[in-house]
Amino acid sequence: SNIVAIVGRPNVGKSTLFNRLLERREAIVDSTAGVTRDRHYGKSDWNGVEFTVIDTGGYDVNNDDIFQEEISKQVQLAIDEATSVVFMLNVEEGLTETDQEIYEMLRRANKPVYIVINKVDSSKEELAATEFYQLGIDKYYTLSSATGSGTGELLDDVVKDFPTTEYNDPFEGLPKITIVGRPNVGKSTLTNALLDNERNIVTNIAGTTRDSVQSLYKKFGHEFVLVDTAGMRKKNKVSEDLEFYSVMRSVRAIENSDVVIIMVDATLGWEAQDMSIFGIAQRNRKGIVIVINKWDLVEDKKTNTMRDFEAAIRHKIGQFSDVPILFTSALTKQRILKAVDTAMEVYENRKQKIKTSKLNEVMLPIFENTPPPAIKGKYVKIKYCVQLPTPSPQFVFFCNLPQYVKEPYKRFTENQLRKEFGFSGVPIEVYFRQK
Ligand code: GDP
Repeated sequence: SNIVAIVGRPNVGKSTLFNRLLERREAIVDSTAGVTRDRHYGKSDWNGVEFTVIDTGGYDVNNDDIFQEEISKQVQLAIDEATSVVFMLNVEEGLTETDQEIYEMLRRANKPVYIVINKVDSSKEELAATEFYQLGIDKYYTLSSATGSGTGELLDDVVKDFPTTEYNDPFEGLPKITIVGRPNVGKSTLTNALLDNERNIVTNIAGTTRDSVQSLYKKFGHEFVLVDTAGMRKKNKVSEDLEFYSVMRSVRAIENSDVVIIMVDATLGWEAQDMSIFGIAQRNRKGIVIVINKWDLVEDKKTNTMRDFEAAIRHKIGQFSDVPILFTSALTKQRILKAVDTAMEVYENRKQKIKTSKLNEVMLPIFENTPPPAIKGKYVKIKYCVQLPTPSPQFVFFCNLPQYVKEPYKRFTENQLRKEFGFSGVPIEVYFRQK
């Protein structure tokens, strides 16, 4: 089977990733002859593809003087045994000499290597991570220990690059959509309503540990994959009632998707758990559509009932103001196709890449007209901007004094981008940087 080895200096966070990959599966310490007992082995899977993970951190001691020789030995073993190697770095400590030596060994190996930068919990660290480009690499992945985000993107690529024919994603490149929300909000009802016609379902893939089902949906000119955890919900109706489990399940479905439909119960309104699911989708930079379901149960509807409901939610979610909000009844099928149409629009918005020339042509005059407020007589001059080649929109604005650009101006910039280019439902990152 395919083996993924995690290598890196001591204490960069290898075992955290290892445990995360294994989730509730038990770690096995393999003591077979010829296999170092200190390495930890375990089984994991992603999108239904099983693989073995090795945590080479078996030697880790709480001591930075761990012998160079010992690390090299681990890395060599990983290169020899593994199908692919995940090289972990830590943004807090930055790029060290040992990191460079490890990378030198990996570079010479004829195996796929994934550079993963751990502890990237904010945009500040996202920027600091660019330091690792010095290794001469052109791609890396960032992981957040605080939110756990980033694992999905990494595993998508790791699994896709497996050399055998074991994995062949029939849904590659198709929009992946998931419906999340509190228990009993109507997720299954909507899923069933969408998939009512068997001809619409071309293939199902059942994940093993993840218990998520992916169904290809083809209807009314749309083609997308519905990532669904319904099977699991039925099995665990009891634990479903515990907020922790339903949020955890949502996290996994969210990581695996491009667009998240957050379903809210119209009779209950937007509550704390909806807010936390929204936060998870936002931090994972997924497209978002909010669907207020069971609208049929809202009695005595007046012209502004919908408007007031919508305004109350927008007020609570704050700044990210152009998330589509729809009102549906999964039961009577009212507006469920509208929900799909909107999710597809958000998918396209998230994918869009603005040409650099166009971006500068539109944004520079805006900055000229409304520059950041001067601080102590110093003026910020924004000279140039680019969109990063990331899966969700991120923009870098080059200027003379990035430290003088404060939060309100970043929000202003984000809102202008939304207004000019149409990023409805899509989290945007805006960075100001010195040229
Ligand atoms: P899930 O736990 O989110 O998957 O919720 P279900 O789809 O199992 O729905 C829970 C209950 O709410 C079921 O009895 C559904 O029939 C009902 N329900 C779902 N959507 C609607 C709706 O739009 N209107 C009404 N009146 N009931 C609904």
